[in-house]
Amino acid sequence: MSEPTGPETIVVIDDDYAMRLSCAKILSKMGLRAETFADGARGLQGVAELKPGLVVVDLKMPGISGMEVISRVHEIDPQIVIIVITGYATIDTAVEAMKSGAYDFLPKPFSPDELRLIVNRCLDRRRLALESQRGEVERALLKRRFITFVSHQLRTPLVAIHQYLDVLKHLDDKDSEPGRRREWIERCLKRTEELQSLIADWLTLARVEGGALLRERVAVDLQEIVPGILKTYEEMAAAGNVALETRMSQEALCVCGDRSCLSVLLDNLITNAIKYNQPGGKVTVSGCLSGGEVVIAVADSGVGIPERYRPFLFDEFFRIKGEGARRIEGTGLGLHISKKIVSEMGGSIDVESQTGVGSTFRVRLPAWSEAVAESDIGSWE
Ligand code: ADP
Repeated sequence: MSEPTGPETIVVIDDDYAMRLSCAKILSKMGLRAETFADGARGLQGVAELKPGLVVVDLKMPGISGMEVISRVHEIDPQIVIIVITGYATIDTAVEAMKSGAYDFLPKPFSPDELRLIVNRCLDRRRLALESQRGEVERALLKRRFITFVSHQLRTPLVAIHQYLDVLKHLDDKDSEPGRRREWIERCLKRTEELQSLIADWLTLARVEGGALLRERVAVDLQEIVPGILKTYEEMAAAGNVALETRMSQEALCVCGDRSCLSVLLDNLITNAIKYNQPGGKVTVSGCLSGGEVVIAVADSGVGIPERYRPFLFDEFFRIKGEGARRIEGTGLGLHISKKIVSEMGGSIDVESQTGVGSTFRVRLPAWSEAVAESDIGSWE
């Protein structure tokens, strides 16, 4: 869709010369480009050529009637906003014009102020319609890009698995090195694990986006759930020689949200803090109340995130490519999902990092209170 350049064009179609002249004068003074036509046929030709944002049309004209002009204008472009003017204003004609697709109605005689008011209202409506159309196009493009990307992500491990199985098929049964067979099987298993986590993350994202994961709204005390979640990572942390610690303040850290979503969020941040850490490193999960918000920070003493990558961290499928990162498995969806969850809960997430020293992901969520819970109910439905 092309962005409108220069002033918005308005086509005025009226057989009354004085009316055309005064409308053009008022509209030009409003900074708009006004083009006038004396009858429906020429008016429609003008609409097709000029692609205006607005059409002001008289209902009673010789030749093609105003009613017909309305429907033919919308055949040219359904986004054009139409105002009808007539000297014979009745409720019936107004209703009929609206039914044919006119947006507003102006009975003659009208003052310059009345015309200005109605034109401004119609321009606002057009802007909104264009914005929402633009949003739809963007969403469709994003969806297409997402599907292409996911298909590619799924295809890469599948092609590798196929190749490994092919090698296995051709391995001599009497192969003197049984270790080789095992190695190819291990590679297959690793690639299927990659596929599984990609599909799992993808499904979680689809559920967060569809609102399914955020349906439940209860008071969840992060003070209570953090230790349990950390416990499930003890083995992973020990394998990487990383120490886990918590520094939660004594008070309850209640937020209003969905327990499984909060777990997904903390899971993502904690696994990253362990994955991108260094042997002998540390992960600290801290939580406190600050200015009506619950602040949860997951800090690591890991590889850090170079500044140039930080603006893209929360984009879907973003992964830092480098020698170190290539060996660490991941889908590039964890932080994207985390950001979605946090925004759906009315919070924010940011990161501070220093290359080679570590990173801290900080989540801020509105603290739970009866008032917050009640006022938010509408926006979650
Ligand atoms: P992934 O599945 O790749 O871990 P994420 O969306 O969770 O996907 O993270 C995106 C990228 O951001 C990661 O690939 C990694 O490069 C970087 N990253 C995330 N968390 C950290 C961290 N704590 N320390 C260093 N880099 C990180």
